[in-house]
Amino acid sequence: MELTGFPGLEGWRAGFTTRRAGGELSGVLPLLGWEGLPVVRLAQRHGSRVVNILSLEEASRPLQEADGLTTACRGLVLTVASADCVPLVLFDPDRPAGAVIHAGWRGTRSRIARGGVEALRRSFGCRPEGLRAMIGPAIGHCCYRVGREVVEAFLSAGFSPDVVLREDGDGAFLDLPEANRRDLVDSGLDPSRIHSVGLCTRCLAGLFPSYRRDGSGTGRILTFLGSSPHS
Ligand SMILES: [Zn+2]
Repeated sequence: MELTGFPGLEGWRAGFTTRRAGGELSGVLPLLGWEGLPVVRLAQRHGSRVVNILSLEEASRPLQEADGLTTACRGLVLTVASADCVPLVLFDPDRPAGAVIHAGWRGTRSRIARGGVEALRRSFGCRPEGLRAMIGPAIGHCCYRVGREVVEAFLSAGFSPDVVLREDGDGAFLDLPEANRRDLVDSGLDPSRIHSVGLCTRCLAGLFPSYRRDGSGTGRILTFLGSSPHS
């Protein structure tokens, strides 16, 4: 298991699970002092919809179809699940408020990272230049071979050709974490406040599940952001 703190923030933590957690937060919550806190999950659809959780009551509603969550509420935990797709955490230490985002290639192409930044700005008044971001474990450019139609989808959506690496016959290797990093920079984030863990899920079989490597029966990485009820 890995945990990443946003320094200087009493009670707010973010991180991601490894294979050992078995796709559950049950072993993680006690370590953070978060036992019994509501955990918000999504019915993920590879879209670009971001849901704002504005109260503890909203945290216990039925699963919503979306790929991003934001909140400024203390005392709950936001999660997204992934197994090659890019998990993102955004956090505004001034507000404080934050977001978790699931960005597969479709969501990345639809600029869900920008959607998360926009949702934080609209709902909580967060300034993009004040946000910090973490790009979690995802399939790397070493392993993410895609077909020509995916390459074309990215280029026609205005992404730099630089995110397409090593042209290979009728396909190419795509750098999905980098595409999201650029989307965050284009959205106004300070590049020095964006941390990419740089870990490839497909390469690191002992640490992470990978859809490309193991198929649909593989587990899930849970990426989370939350806080204790009181600072
Ligand atoms: Zn790899």
